[in-house]
Amino acid sequence: MSIDRNIVHLVIKLRPWTMNFPSIVQPETVNFCNAKCIMCPTSKGTKPKGFMDFGLYKKIIDECARNKEYVKALYPFQNGEPLIHPEFSKYIEYAKKQNNQWEVALYTNASLLDKNKTLKILESGLDTLVVSFDGFRKETYESIRIGLNFDQVKKNVIDFINLKKSMNKNNPEVHLVIIAMDKTRGEVKDFEREWKNLADRVEVSHFSNWGGQVDELDSQDILKENYAPCLRLWEHLVILRDGTVSLCCNDFDGRFPLGDLTYQTIKEIWQGEIINDYRKAHLNSDFSSLPICKKCSYRLHQLSLLRKLIFRQVFKKIINKK
Ligand code: SF4
Repeated sequence: MSIDRNIVHLVIKLRPWTMNFPSIVQPETVNFCNAKCIMCPTSKGTKPKGFMDFGLYKKIIDECARNKEYVKALYPFQNGEPLIHPEFSKYIEYAKKQNNQWEVALYTNASLLDKNKTLKILESGLDTLVVSFDGFRKETYESIRIGLNFDQVKKNVIDFINLKKSMNKNNPEVHLVIIAMDKTRGEVKDFEREWKNLADRVEVSHFSNWGGQVDELDSQDILKENYAPCLRLWEHLVILRDGTVSLCCNDFDGRFPLGDLTYQTIKEIWQGEIINDYRKAHLNSDFSSLPICKKCSYRLHQLSLLRKLIFRQVFKKIINKK
């Protein structure tokens, strides 16, 4: 047994409550995007494009609120660009109104972040705004984030940060994220230097191969043999726009559905037979029923992500005690 595999087994054993309810819930409010990024398979999705029905969203949030002792974070986005939704702030506000304690975070490409949307976000109660911004140089950025304009996006983010400051708002925290891959690796240091004084946090994230569904764009980081179970099956629930619960965020087209929230509850699905069979398969390192997991680069990085998360939680607790 590898060390990674032993550690992940131990984490799963130490957290038996994760079998009750997911700690991260991610409803997909929009399932299409205004960009065609080279590392993202969203445009290959076969499901009809549109917005999640607000009634379905409410059903999800209301069940989470009844189980708030388990839910730590809500991410109202998945495959699409969430700011395309004309009423995106209504979804954030509803989630924060049901429980102010959980973290509500949004990932965006920031191309649509004009003044009107900025004000809506600043008033919505959103905790974290994560901007995916791949590149320090315009040429690099525009060769990755196809369809977006580097100068416009950069201006949008800086204007957002300045308006937030001028309104004396603490929230949302603004995080800038760059994916380390062949095209960006040489610019990561410049990127960090440029944004560290502007954003609340700058992150360098690992390249994800979406369970083998996109080309490997990072030659330094290709998945070798890895038999560790994936912690996402014990913590994270992703609901696609039409109510299908997909295996995880990499299962962008719902090819491995765990259930359907239009007629089931989160609890039924989370404690159900389908996900439990997949969990058993992972614990036994048997990925024959889940080819997507066999090829997934997420399992390669989950321990470093877990370490970062624990470090952040401990750090937050220390700061809050002072
Ligand atoms: S291994 Fe990858 S594809 Fe499988 S559940 Fe984990 S994140 Fe999803």
